[in-house]
This record gives sequence, C-alpha cells and structure tokens, in this order.
Amino acid sequence: MAGASVKVAVRVRPFNSRETGRNAKCVIQMQGNTTCISNPKQPKDGAKNFTFDYSYWSHTTVDDPSFASQRQVYKDIGEEMLLHAFEGYNVCIFAYGQTGAGKSYTMMGKQEPGQEGIIPQLCEDLFQRTGENTDPDLTYSVEVSYMEIYCERVRDLLNPKSQGTLRVREHPILGPYVEDLSKLAVTGFTDIRDLMDAGNKARTVAATNMNETSSRSHAVFTIVFTQKRRDQMTSLDTEKVSKISLVDLAGSERADSSGAKGTRLKEGANINKSLTTLGKVISALAEMQSSKKRKSDFIPYRDSVLTWLLKENLGGNSRTAMIAALSPADINYEETLSTLRYADRAKQIRCNAVINEDPNAKLIRELKAEVERLRNLLFSQGLQELLDNAGEPASAGDVPADPDPLIEDGEEGEEAVATEPISKEEAAERLLETEKIIAELNETWEEKLRKTESIRLERSTRSQ
Ligand code: ADP
Ligand code: MG
Repeated sequence: MAGASVKVAVRVRPFNSRETGRNAKCVIQMQGNTTCISNPKQPKDGAKNFTFDYSYWSHTTVDDPSFASQRQVYKDIGEEMLLHAFEGYNVCIFAYGQTGAGKSYTMMGKQEPGQEGIIPQLCEDLFQRTGENTDPDLTYSVEVSYMEIYCERVRDLLNPKSQGTLRVREHPILGPYVEDLSKLAVTGFTDIRDLMDAGNKARTVAATNMNETSSRSHAVFTIVFTQKRRDQMTSLDTEKVSKISLVDLAGSERADSSGAKGTRLKEGANINKSLTTLGKVISALAEMQSSKKRKSDFIPYRDSVLTWLLKENLGGNSRTAMIAALSPADINYEETLSTLRYADRAKQIRCNAVINEDPNAKLIRELKAEVERLRNLLFSQGLQELLDNAGEPASAGDVPADPDPLIEDGEEGEEAVATEPISKEEAAERLLETEKIIAELNETWEEKLRKTESIRLERSTRSQ
C-alpha cells in the first residue's frame, strides 16, 4: 500500500502596511525547497529548517529572481492537480495558516491581471483544455458548488434562496454529503467565474454582518468534473468522475484557544472544532504512517463537519496538496512556527487515490438495490401507509429542525450498510433519502442547466 504523499508547500507573503509601519523584521528565509525560520528573541541559535515540496518566496516583487508569482504557484500545484482530475482522480488543495497570512490570496487572489489565485486559474485552464477537445466521442460536464462552514454549520454560498443551515448527512452507500447543497451545471469559464464572484460576495456580506466570519469560516469550492467516452463499437458509455475540492480554511490562530479572548472564548470551542479536528486527523494520519499501524479506525473524521466531508481528501481516495501561508513578520513568529510544524506533519500523510471509473452507474445500481430492499422491508411489515405519508414536509427540510446533531444518520463504523436492523421510521426516511439521491443522479444535463439559470435569475432579481 504505497499511495502518494500529500504535496506540501509553504508560501511567505510581503509585509503588510502595518508591519512595514512598525518596522517589522522578516524571520523567514528560503533556499530551494527549504524554509528557515529564525527566532527573533534568539537570533543566534534559534533558527529552524524545514523542507517541503515547495517553498514559495513571495515576500518581494517580480524583479526578484526568486520571487514566486501566482502563476508559478498555479503551475506547480494547481496544474498538477488538474491533470490528475483529467486522469479521473479526486483532488484537493487546501490552504492553511494564520488570518492574514495569504490563504485567500493564494486560493482566490484578486481580480487583477496576474493576481488571480489557484481557483480561477484552475477553472480557466479546465475550460481551456476541454475546449481543445476534438474527439466527438468524448464529452465533458462540469458542476460547481460552494459552501461555507462556520461554527459547524454549512451554508450554501451559491443559492440565494438557501438562507439556513444545510444538513450534513451520511448515506450508507454515498457516505457523508451535504443535503440540498446546490450543484450547478456550468458550460464555460464565465459561468463559473460569475458563480465564484456571487459566492465570494455572499461570504463577504456575512463577514461584515457577523463580525469577521470569513476569518473563522472554512470555504469549500467544489468542481465535479465528468468525462464521458462513447465506444463506437459497442455504443456504450464509460465515465470518469473527479471531484476537485478547493478549500480555504479558517485562520489557524483560532485553533489555539490561547488566541481567543473573553466572550470569543466561549464561541471558540465550536468555531475551532473543525480546525482542531483537522489537526488531530492530520496528526493521527501521520502517526499511522510512521508507526506502520495500518488502522484507520481511530482517525477522528467524524468529530467535525469539515473533516467528515473531506474524509476522502485527507486519508483516502484523493490526490491532495496543502499550501501553508506564512507571515514574514517577527511579531508572528510563534504562530508561523506552529504553521510550519503543522505543514511538516502533513507531509507524512499518504492517500490511496484510485481512478473513478463509472462511479455513477455503479452508485445508481447500488442505490436502487437499497431502495428495493427498504421497500420490501416496509411492505413485509405491512407498512404501506408509512411510505405514502413519508414524503411530506419533514423531509422537504431547508433548515434542520434541531441543528444540534449536525452529522446525522451515521452509524458508528464504516460497514454500516444495510445489514444492521433499523426501525421502520428510519427505513422510511432512508428510503426517501435514497430516492432523492437517485433522482438527482438521474437528472438530465438540460434539467441541471435550467436549475442553474433559475438560480442566476433569482440572484439578479434580488440584487436589483
Ligand atoms: P488570509 O486569507 O490568510 O486571512 P489574505 O489572503 O486575505 O489572508 O491576505 C491578507 C492580505 O495580504 C491581503 O490584502 C492580500 O492581498 C495580501 N497578500 C497575501 N498574500 C500575498 C502575496 N503573496 N502577495 C501579495 N499580497 C498578498
Ligand atoms: Mg481569507
């Protein structure tokens, strides 16, 4: 079980105006892929070295030959991951670091020439490449979702109608997913860019209303990329599906409760939960590698919404990269050192990515079998009326009635599929859930495009 290691990069930004104003000293040096941090209090012997796949020196400007531009970062990491997506692997890039260290700049960037981050560059490159295809037997489809996790609650950043918190559910076949999260069909880069902008705006609006939400929330931008190939001989279609998860994490200083003060301390526990759990998951995965104990049962994925939803990207079926953003300034020394240590641990993680060939066909088969099984179960107990009544309000759920158990339906342990006894209410509920998933999977591309359009209209009427 070799697996590919998580690619790890670190990147140091320029001084901001406050730091320049205070005459801050730069504590970071880089040479090749080595990053050196010196302790401002012990300048003589307090230096520590770390090596990563990439050490990006973005502290200066383009005139500096060692300067790493947005383009460079994309070329090394974004493009590599995009090529893996074309091969049919799930991929994930996540940005970690203290607030203000450059996570959003690296992931999203600015809408100025040369300043776009990994996400817009990757989207543009994706459509550039699919646009070059001349093979009539090969077709592509792209769907996008964008969500925010704040205080363990998930919010849809793309659907203006979806105001509340979405439920994180677990289906025995599908695994963890966000119920009713919009997954919008897009046909070109401008579509995706408009959605990205709308989502970023939705994030900012909440940030000003809710006291810096954005530094405490995780933003997850997901692209589902499907390649369908028709075999002329047999007229059969085969599909490769790749899920591309691009994650801008909450500021890491919140993970350490010493950084939270006063009233924030109380909120802190929940705000930090996803990030502290991510740290635990990374440590546990790293330990699993070094101790050769091949037991994944004790990885605490389930303890937070973020780690639960990114489970595959962290220790499973994914090619994953992490970029740790560093502040150059002496005043941030402790936090920056802790970021470097975190990144150093992440290097040890290995994922076992597999090409996702025909996952939908297989999934639909399994889901249909599950529906059949549940129906028989309920019929055999003479519970026809439960089936007939079950479709009503309760399951229409925009907002969870009880937001507390945010991860629902889960059974402890992985092999919970279908064999353990469940109550008739559970069976009826699971039946509905499964039928809903099948309906979504069976939606035609035209229906999907219509949905995207109606959400776009909704947004434009609201913004007038
Ligand atoms: P974070 O998302 O980690 O809180 P940001 O990405 O918002 O931090 O960065 C904070 C500020 O620093 C922003 O104004 C951003 O434009 C700037 N910045 C960050 N990284 C760079 C960089 N590599 N080059 C130029 N400016 C940067
Ligand atoms: Mg940010």
